Amino acid sequence: AVENEYELIGKNEVLQWYKPREKFSHKGTYGHSLIIGGSYGKIGAVLLASDACLNTGSGLVTAYIPTCGYIPMQTALPEAMVITDSTEKMVSKIQFDIIPTVIGLGIGIGQNEVTVKALKEFLSTNKIPLVIDADALNIISKHKEFLKMIPAKSVLTPHPRELERLIGSWKDDFEKLEKAKAFSIKFNLIVVIKGAHTITLCDGKGYVNTTGNPGMATAGSGDVLTGMITGLIAQGYDSLRATVFAIYLHGRSGDLAVEKCGYQALTASEIIDFIGDAFLDLF
Ligand code: AMP
Ligand code: MG
Repeated sequence: AVENEYELIGKNEVLQWYKPREKFSHKGTYGHSLIIGGSYGKIGAVLLASDACLNTGSGLVTAYIPTCGYIPMQTALPEAMVITDSTEKMVSKIQFDIIPTVIGLGIGIGQNEVTVKALKEFLSTNKIPLVIDADALNIISKHKEFLKMIPAKSVLTPHPRELERLIGSWKDDFEKLEKAKAFSIKFNLIVVIKGAHTITLCDGKGYVNTTGNPGMATAGSGDVLTGMITGLIAQGYDSLRATVFAIYLHGRSGDLAVEKCGYQALTASEIIDFIGDAFLDLF
């Protein structure tokens, strides 16, 4: 193995590239995140990601969701703006008149045929950096030709089953890492292998996270992470640093939350509640 092929990421590492808030800044300084996703019964995923994105410091957040999500989003998260798809229960055409800094794509989006078509059309013209998660990953796994349309150094955040659909099965963790690494190099993407020790792969190197706990194995936990990575890219962190930093903060938020509510009761919303404490805990 090459020396320094893997790097452990803790507080000291992320502090090296932490960007302090500038006195004479305004919300435009901190970027505009667009979160695209949702379908009937899965609007909550977009809500969690958008909330996490705001709590991570994105200047503006817009959610692009099916019409059925309009009232719940605007009610539960007044800080977020909403653009609705023309379809009631799913995303059927990805069109918007804003210029986002970064797009978080795929949470709760489902795999309906019209959504697959919308995703293909969107990817064929999009040049904005992406953070791709959940069903957008599953769709891409079924349509590997979409991979070449993803902007370089975009971020993919599969959980183990989504990763398997993307790169095929593995016989052990070593093979999993090698296959994911080859995939990340081939398509020039950042690949996040989520789990107890989340590993971020970029340009043949691996960044191993040191925060987090099994209380975070809960519904919506990954949606929160997607929002956090998106929110850091919006603020001008390059996509690798944003990813590694967000994974660190996400785990730290979970570690602080668990002290208050224990492993079993920990929910994704509570991870969001502790993002601020995780930032404060850096100093
Ligand atoms: P998802 O399956 O997409 O909701 O993502 C789950 C999130 O929770 C990822 O960020 C995982 O790294 C995290 N997670 C899941 N299980 C554990 C665990 N046992 N220890 C620490 N983090 C975990
Ligand atoms: Mg997920």
